[in-house]
Amino acid sequence: LKPPCRTFHGHPRLLVSDVHSQYESVRRGEQEIPKYFNFASDVLDKWSEIEKAGKRPTNSAFWWISGNGEEVKWSFEELGFLSRKVANVLTKVCGLQKGDRVILVLPRIPEWWLVNVACIRAGIVLIPGTSQLSAKDILYRLQASKAKCIITNDTLAPAVDSVASECQFLKNKLMVSKGSREGWLNFNELYKNQPADHSCVKTMIQDSMIIFFTSGTTGSPKMTEHSQGSLGFRPLLCERYWLDVAPSNIVWGITDTGWIVTSLTSVFDAWALGSCVFVHQLPQIESSVILNTLCTFPIDTMISAPTLYRMLVQTDLSSYKFMNLKHCMSGGEPLNPEVIDQWKSKTGLDIYEVYGQTEAGIICSISRGMKIKPGSMGKAAPPFDVQVVDKNANILPPGQQGEIAIRSKPVRPLGLFTEYVDNPKKTTESERGDFYITGDRATMDEDGYFWFIGRDDDIIISSGYRIGPFEVESALIEHPAVAETAVVSSPDPLRGEVVKAFVVLSDAFSSSDCESLARDLQEHVKKTTAPYKYPRKVEFVQELPKTITGKIKRNELRAKEWGQM
Ligand code: ATP
Ligand code: MG
Repeated sequence: LKPPCRTFHGHPRLLVSDVHSQYESVRRGEQEIPKYFNFASDVLDKWSEIEKAGKRPTNSAFWWISGNGEEVKWSFEELGFLSRKVANVLTKVCGLQKGDRVILVLPRIPEWWLVNVACIRAGIVLIPGTSQLSAKDILYRLQASKAKCIITNDTLAPAVDSVASECQFLKNKLMVSKGSREGWLNFNELYKNQPADHSCVKTMIQDSMIIFFTSGTTGSPKMTEHSQGSLGFRPLLCERYWLDVAPSNIVWGITDTGWIVTSLTSVFDAWALGSCVFVHQLPQIESSVILNTLCTFPIDTMISAPTLYRMLVQTDLSSYKFMNLKHCMSGGEPLNPEVIDQWKSKTGLDIYEVYGQTEAGIICSISRGMKIKPGSMGKAAPPFDVQVVDKNANILPPGQQGEIAIRSKPVRPLGLFTEYVDNPKKTTESERGDFYITGDRATMDEDGYFWFIGRDDDIIISSGYRIGPFEVESALIEHPAVAETAVVSSPDPLRGEVVKAFVVLSDAFSSSDCESLARDLQEHVKKTTAPYKYPRKVEFVQELPKTITGKIKRNELRAKEWGQM
């Protein structure tokens, strides 16, 4: 079968590559999804062959900078060579076998990517964690996951040692460091001395590949299991993918290594499409560093969370000229239309929103070439059938509020997690009728665009009205005094609960008179949205509580309001 050369909104598609063409009949539904699949041998090694045959642009597969002048560039071949050595460390030195679990807690350094690929080669289940974990978080993760090995750096090694005696399953500790530490194997020395031949294990498409802990925005992080197929094969299954890039593209995902978004943007999706993954170590996320990087390197596609864009638009952008940036995406939290407007007026670029979850990767998206409706998170991302449903899992018509759900029966779609590990109760609770229920509320319009209202438990019910915090926050952020805001419910003797806004002021307004400013903000919301939604209470704060991944913890603010903390 010779696949047709496709174009997608004038953008040359990539389906012409061998990696994709071999699955053309699967995409057309003429052939079953393959039984065996391994992202390293079936995708990365294929790209390496294509590269060798001179059929891929002379573009690195991986491009890393430290910010202090250090730089690493790997082709797919080099990535293969080095990751095989690391696979040998894990299997031969550490004795890990297919199905064993490894926790990986490293900042954005090249070794993180090598361990990712090495685990896939060896069939070892990877559990990424963010470098901001405390000893208590590490203990929770080691115990819950029964991981046999942890890989981290010298910054976090003492925290691991302080809890290791309570982790009976932990056998090996590997440290990515120039120095040494008692009880730890030195990753760097070991892997340099390993042979580069390793034969990739044969994995079934539904074999466990990665377990992510959710962000824990609303409670303890949940272990969410993804298979080789759900992360590795999904990008090959879809023609119109949320990340619409080609081998010539350079993709910069500015997110934490513990978060699924990094795995999508900077491992599976970008590499499935043969693109270059760009990484800046970014020990601290500072506007000037981000902006200078965009001016110095030919990055064309950038993905981050709204917090980052909110931070960047507070900066004077007039002195920055981006080298090649063309496509900006945002996900993980609602993106306020005001931020889209400001970014557009200051940079000339649009922000394309995606909506997703640890459980399902990208669920909705505005893909390149699609019309942007500011405030909407786009349409269902293939292969998902996404609907808005009611309490009984009935599909609601356009315009009606309900819960966002993904059809999971009769066939569970590739992309959706396998289960919450060791938690069949939570797994069952997430299903209703033929659907997996996301726990987020939205409406869908006539064109199939989804409009986020809020997490189910963030909805405020005041005098009988249901109010989603996002709409009020978006109204508030239009006001020049507001840099960031979170809206939650607060107790009220008369109305039961009322809308309360926590506001972080922009620098120019930091010394304003609070009382009159609060009144201004209330008037502003009354004017820009239905008046009953205005915040009856306004509190000015220095910062908002956030998860490690930068999400606003409304539940924490709400608990304080209700005296539960
Ligand atoms: P936990 O499940 O442990 O409470 P969490 O839900 O924050 O944590 P993630 O899986 O990282 O963990 O986040 C997914 C959630 O983030 C979604 O369910 C949704 O509430 C929110 N989200 C993601 N993208 C968007 C978006 N574009 N617009 C609005 N909300 C979004
Ligand atoms: Mg969640």
